Amino acid sequence: MFEDLFRSLGLGELNHGVAGALGDQAGGEPVIRSINPATEEPLPAVRCASLEDYDRVVERAAAAFTRWRMTPAPRRGEVVRLIGEVLRAKKKELGLLVTLETGKIRSEGEGEVQEMIDMCDFAVGLSRQLHGLTIASERPLHRMIEQWQPLGPIGVISAFNFPVAVWAWNAMIAAVCGDTIVWKPSPRTPLTAVAIAGIVQSVMRENDCEGVFNLVVGGLDLGERMIADPRLPLISATGSCAMGRRVAEVVGRRLGRALLELGGNNAIIIAASASIELAIRATTFAAVGTAGQRCTTARRLIVHESLHDQVLDRLAAVYKRLPIGDPWDAGTLVGPLIGEQAVQAMQAALAAAKSQGGEVVHGGERLDRPGYFVTPALVKARPDMPIVGVETFAPILFVMTYSDFDHAIAIQNGVEQGLTSAIFTNDLREAERFLAASGSDCGIANVNIGTSGAEIGGAFGGEKSTGGGREAGSDSWKAYMRRQTCTINHGDQPPLAQGVRFDVSET
Ligand code: NAD
Repeated sequence: MFEDLFRSLGLGELNHGVAGALGDQAGGEPVIRSINPATEEPLPAVRCASLEDYDRVVERAAAAFTRWRMTPAPRRGEVVRLIGEVLRAKKKELGLLVTLETGKIRSEGEGEVQEMIDMCDFAVGLSRQLHGLTIASERPLHRMIEQWQPLGPIGVISAFNFPVAVWAWNAMIAAVCGDTIVWKPSPRTPLTAVAIAGIVQSVMRENDCEGVFNLVVGGLDLGERMIADPRLPLISATGSCAMGRRVAEVVGRRLGRALLELGGNNAIIIAASASIELAIRATTFAAVGTAGQRCTTARRLIVHESLHDQVLDRLAAVYKRLPIGDPWDAGTLVGPLIGEQAVQAMQAALAAAKSQGGEVVHGGERLDRPGYFVTPALVKARPDMPIVGVETFAPILFVMTYSDFDHAIAIQNGVEQGLTSAIFTNDLREAERFLAASGSDCGIANVNIGTSGAEIGGAFGGEKSTGGGREAGSDSWKAYMRRQTCTINHGDQPPLAQGVRFDVSET
């Protein structure tokens, strides 16, 4: 059904799982196939990188780094601009491939490609703005500066739910910073990665810059090899908190740098003064968009007691009308979950919620059709139910109530994750309290906007068990470079800092 699409993206029935420094290579065993989660049909296969392939890729990426770091940053930006142009030209096709492999609806699949394009544009501008500082020296006739140098070949490990955008957050910034990149995508979404790598390689070949962007498709053994590899000074890893703990441990042991983007358990507070219409629409997108499979998905709703019943009724009415179906059909708003395991995890979480005193008000059923379709669930809950503290990667919204504003903030902050948070209020003081040091403890805090759908211009990431990393905009680029403090003496005396005297004489 989608053969023309695969062909237009250079994909065959069996595809190379290694790309970049080695050229396109066949890869070895095993061969993996992602499954279209809407039909359960297999997609074209990808051969995984062997550990030997991996070693050669990193060797070549390190060699490419010695050239790329000396390429002027604006020239590196020019190459990234060309990648952005090709992505623009292929936006529809790549968006549809994201839809086929992840189950995201069309506009979200294309949105993900747009995010890559936005990252290219951002990185091009950044390539002329990798500024350092001039710092006052306490010593006479001395000048002190801070400059930023490329870091090395870096490892990027990505999750299934943003199969390409997260790669672009890392890779485009790292590339203009002068790093080379070794990317291990999720083994659940290898095909999108192979298609992107093919497009990028053609640009790099034309510009004689091979070896900057590298791909190695594989599973746990490959991931473990990467995180333990001292040739990669930075590992940027996106995925579950459990994965992040393991990455932090292994990278920490070799004193490397880990940039971690892990799970979220995001809450929305609906205060008494909120505009209900706005809150309902934004909450629905945040809770059921991408079938609840965003790190920023709203999983907890904390509603003022005066609005609780009304909000629950109105949400239930909206949930009843949600168009669930094939994600490539115009009009569908909720596609499938990624796989059988995700359906089982959702069922288990709902059973746990019931046993802990929760009440499923709507949804939670599996649809009787091929694919991993469920109806998004609304659950009346209490914050002390253990299941409310767990990130179940499925569309379950736990609805809780509060009377005192400080208590609402305590509920919001009372989980181990700290990615995104939101409040709906028309009370300026409440909004400011939410944004104060004693307010939300998350990396992202929104007012009258849901928890998901961040723009790339800001730094993206979260606190606590979410890992503390920041990617994409603002000054996140600094994570991909090494900081160097330089002091230059343009006098003929060697004064020491802090007034230390160390007079020596040659005679
Ligand atoms: P996952 O943890 O199962 O896998 C993520 C990636 O880590 C995959 O490429 C996987 O192969 C790799 N991996 C797993 N164990 C590894 C190990 N020991 N060493 C090296 N690599 C290893 O996550 P997933 O199911 O693909 O994605 C969903 C999770 O990702 C959710 O928890 C979601 O919140 C999180 N996520 C976070 C962000 C963010 O920016 N904070 C963005 C997207 C997804």
